[in-house]
Amino acid sequence: MLLMGLSGGIGSGKSTVARRLVARGAVLVDSDVLAREVVRPGTPGLTELVERFGDDILDSDGALNRPALAAKVFSDSDARADLNAITHPKIRELTAARIAQAPTDAVVVHDVPLLVEAGYAANYHLVVIVGAPEPVRMRRLIDRGLAEDDARARIAAQATDEQRREVADVWLDNSGSVEEINAQVDALWQDRLVPFEENVRLRRRPPKRAPLLVEPDPEWPRQARRLIARIERAAGDKAVRIDHIGSTSVPGLPAKDVIDLQLTVRSLDDADALAEPLGEAGFPLLPEIRGDTPHSFAPDPMQWKKRIHLSADPGRYANLHVRVDGSASQRVALVFPAWLRADETARAEYLALKRKVSAEHANDPNHDAYAAAKEPWFETGLRKAWHWADRTGWSPSD
Ligand code: ADP
Repeated sequence: MLLMGLSGGIGSGKSTVARRLVARGAVLVDSDVLAREVVRPGTPGLTELVERFGDDILDSDGALNRPALAAKVFSDSDARADLNAITHPKIRELTAARIAQAPTDAVVVHDVPLLVEAGYAANYHLVVIVGAPEPVRMRRLIDRGLAEDDARARIAAQATDEQRREVADVWLDNSGSVEEINAQVDALWQDRLVPFEENVRLRRRPPKRAPLLVEPDPEWPRQARRLIARIERAAGDKAVRIDHIGSTSVPGLPAKDVIDLQLTVRSLDDADALAEPLGEAGFPLLPEIRGDTPHSFAPDPMQWKKRIHLSADPGRYANLHVRVDGSASQRVALVFPAWLRADETARAEYLALKRKVSAEHANDPNHDAYAAAKEPWFETGLRKAWHWADRTGWSPSD
């Protein structure tokens, strides 16, 4: 199963996108619908609301009169907190139940208008945001029958597009026609959601690609932050720290378009205990690799043991190295990019090596050969980085 979060500002076209995803085969869990279900007549939710707010929040049929309730909580933050304390746990429970009922091979789309505001992004394998410029959204809301002031106030009360960009693994631009947005949704479904779901379910990696160097992408750090948030959630208190490492963490350095991350744990037992939770979170274990090549400054192979997980997402290649706190491999993975960030000559030398090796392996999806070709330089480079750290008093919190 793949769990996708869907959001976007009011009038952006979330419901339009959700409908198209359902037409392609997704299972929709609509948070607005669930929020109404937990306070339907006859529910414990409605009984609790009446006990707290009085029976003048009911209409003549005994159903919840939303405007009447809204008026009571509008300018009273205690009342609002009480309302949320009654409804939120029930909505959460019902959401979990609906997701659990979905077929094991489903792409579940959770439509949450306030996903960004509530800080839910890390709960999903993928977050898709529907965006459209404010004037376009205003016009659509007015066409839908909203008063202009009301539309403006609702937009102003929500998160900003910048906040939405921070969590958006995919940004669907709905400033054009319905046909255009539907075509984007179809491509997302076909090229990313369907294979991502299969990969998560089968604990399988996306296809190997040849090691192609690309220009540095300013989005890499933000993409890394999103993945780190998911890993943090899956690893819980077994995570000592999680870092963006490797070439994509060095500003301005061309690199393979693969985000490297390091999850630091206290022991290899902890690493093994995380194999399943990380797999479920979309980072299946690559069982055949159990360590890095030892280097001369720390020859003990125990110092280089690790576990490696790869992101199952065919749209965002990422490697997750799980290493033990204080081991040589854990430390050098932090030192190496820090040294490259600090030392321009080292950076230029490393880039020259990468260009050469990637040209030699341009059509070779076997990364082992690419990695092996870099090893001789690494032997010297990592030692230099190691000594640089000692000399400068660098510490991993830097
Ligand atoms: P949301 O669920 O994000 O509030 P909707 O999907 O309900 O947004 O879209 C808001 C309004 O705009 C609806 O009336 C919808 O039919 C219309 N709409 C959505 N996308 C487009 C589009 N690309 N072109 C024109 N109208 C659109």
